[in-house]
Amino acid sequence: MRTSPFDLSGRRALVTGSTRGIGAGIAEGLARAGAHVAVHGRDELGVKAAVNQLRNALADDGIEALVDSVVFDVTDAESMLSAVARLEQDLGGIDILVNNAGIQHRSALVDFPLHAWQEVLSANLTSCFLLARQLAPGMIIRGRGKIINICSVQNRLVRGSTSAYAAAKAGLGALGQVMCAEWAAAGIQINGLAPGYIDTDLNTALKQNPEMVDWIKSRTPAGRWGTPQDLAGPAVWLASAASDFVNGQVVFVDGGMTAVI
Ligand code: NDP
Repeated sequence: MRTSPFDLSGRRALVTGSTRGIGAGIAEGLARAGAHVAVHGRDELGVKAAVNQLRNALADDGIEALVDSVVFDVTDAESMLSAVARLEQDLGGIDILVNNAGIQHRSALVDFPLHAWQEVLSANLTSCFLLARQLAPGMIIRGRGKIINICSVQNRLVRGSTSAYAAAKAGLGALGQVMCAEWAAAGIQINGLAPGYIDTDLNTALKQNPEMVDWIKSRTPAGRWGTPQDLAGPAVWLASAASDFVNGQVVFVDGGMTAVI
């Protein structure tokens, strides 16, 4: 019996891009709520380190984490799909998919290289389509599943120089709505989480620009950058039975940035 609607015990989760940043924060949140979490990244050593870090963080609080790992590049469809098929078999199914892995490339539209456009679309959008398409049939058979697509404030407010990223995130929001149209009746909830500016490696270049740093603080009503932990609670909610009637939405976790002008 579940003691709380947020209880994730017995649920198996894959969080892509969970070696660091937002993905690591979400993986820890899901594991603390009781889920068996597969940590994912591109290289074996990075994934191992992240698994150890997660285990240690939970052990410090007396929680024995159920953690697995999986290594693949989300832009390499063939190896990604075979790794995920093996993981699904090993875990006996995947109930929660968090499509988090993503990259950014900034350049003015007229200079935007085609290879960078394709890489951003492949990592931030196509991989999410492929993983959801692969894991939905198992969710449909079990009559339950949660897919969380990590979107962005750029689903609502865009800046120059981010054409591929903004297009990919907008596409991900729309893709989530189509998944909802097709899979909601089968018991699957598909929602987006749209972070504001979060202090992670993705923003290393941005943080070198003091004007941008000041602009972000002043443009965020909360008056600060977000942390990966700020995404953990909303992700647990969307992964749990507490959100079973929430579907096809994008939830903004941005300290109020998209709520005000
Ligand atoms: P980080 O750069 O801190 O982490 C990115 C993660 O994605 C890493 O685990 C990395 O793995 C993984 N990854 C990147 N490319 C690939 C790839 N080709 N194949 C496999 N794994 C890959 O990013 P954030 O935590 O900041 O971002 C996570 C998500 O949140 C992204 O989708 C991003 O667009 C979104 N987001 C971030 C915001 C922010 O301000 N930070 C704001 C809005 C949205 P590895 O360690 O192997 O490199």
